[in-house]
Amino acid sequence: MSIPSLCSPVVERLEPYVPGEQPRIAGLVKLNTNENPYPPSPRAIAAVEAAAREGLQLYPDPQSLALREALAAAHGLQTDQVFVGNGSDEVLAHAFFAFFQHAGERLLMPDITYSFYRVYCGLWGIGAELQPLDAGLAVDVGALAARAAQGPCAGIVLANPNAPTGMGLPLAQIERLLAACPRRVVLVDEAYVDFGGESAVGLIARHPNLLVVHTLSKSRSLAGLRVGAAFGAQPLIDALTRVKDSFNSYPLDRLAQAGACAAVQDVAYFDATRHAVMHNRDGLARALQELGFEVLPSQANFLFARHPGRDGAQLAALLRERAVLVRHFARPERIAPYLRISVGTPAQCDALVRAVAAILASNR
Ligand SMILES: *Cc1c(COP(=O)(O)O)cnc(C)c1O
Repeated sequence: MSIPSLCSPVVERLEPYVPGEQPRIAGLVKLNTNENPYPPSPRAIAAVEAAAREGLQLYPDPQSLALREALAAAHGLQTDQVFVGNGSDEVLAHAFFAFFQHAGERLLMPDITYSFYRVYCGLWGIGAELQPLDAGLAVDVGALAARAAQGPCAGIVLANPNAPTGMGLPLAQIERLLAACPRRVVLVDEAYVDFGGESAVGLIARHPNLLVVHTLSKSRSLAGLRVGAAFGAQPLIDALTRVKDSFNSYPLDRLAQAGACAAVQDVAYFDATRHAVMHNRDGLARALQELGFEVLPSQANFLFARHPGRDGAQLAALLRERAVLVRHFARPERIAPYLRISVGTPAQCDALVRAVAAILASNR
């Protein structure tokens, strides 16, 4: 930081999240940030256009009531069990602030998971306690539950399916964590659940400490609109609303509320596109396996795969030379051999497979 004296001291200590790159290269096969390869529902686009024509001089509904009603109806909840925010990243930031700041208590999470969780811990001064994934890169629920039952913790956060592995836990395992941590919130981030995972939303009625977070960025193809949601018992939603109204009363603009609402209501389009992504995913996994890759079983819209004979960073760099973008994480070292490959259209998946095959054949 060049002029530290102008900044609050805490700014220097922050370790911000680094998102996957969004380069402007024509013809790029972009499989690095888990966006949906299909456009959003035509009804969502029409709703955004209509909203743009009417009322932009006015503030939006600060409570996003129509959207929360649509989400509640879609998930069998009451409207007061639904919170919405400007992307699920913002929802997560509010949730960490609202539920995980307990002096001297640390937040339990898997060591390999969505890296923003640790960034929010840094932002709010929350200590994190990392539980290593098991030998098969699955979340070690037994160890997490044992640690939570053993003594005070600030709560538990996990992604299900997990990122960047794509592997999901069955609901019985989530219930184990809820039972082991009854005095604190268990936050289940279901960013990818619509691609084959089991949602914990149905457990909310029985578990007052469960908060489930969703995003419209992945399965609803609306990454550019920035809409996320949290589902939980009313006291949890009230707490999130208090935090939100102490930060920004209008996190969702008129276009976002209108587009998100229409997208949630277009069930047929949602089902068609998520099933297409799952179908493409399974084909891509087979093609990569035929090229010698080990592919983790994925319930998400991406694959986590490694080639026994090739370095992960080098493969990613060689793919980039061929205008194919995938994500590589250099750390932790355990996942450095892997590539995280977002599932594209059949044409994008074919382009990736051809590029990989050419690289493997060229021996570079
Ligand atoms: C993509 C992603 C998010 C963020 O979603 P936004 O709604 O776009 O902010 C949150 N959690 C996980 C695990 C994700 O992969």
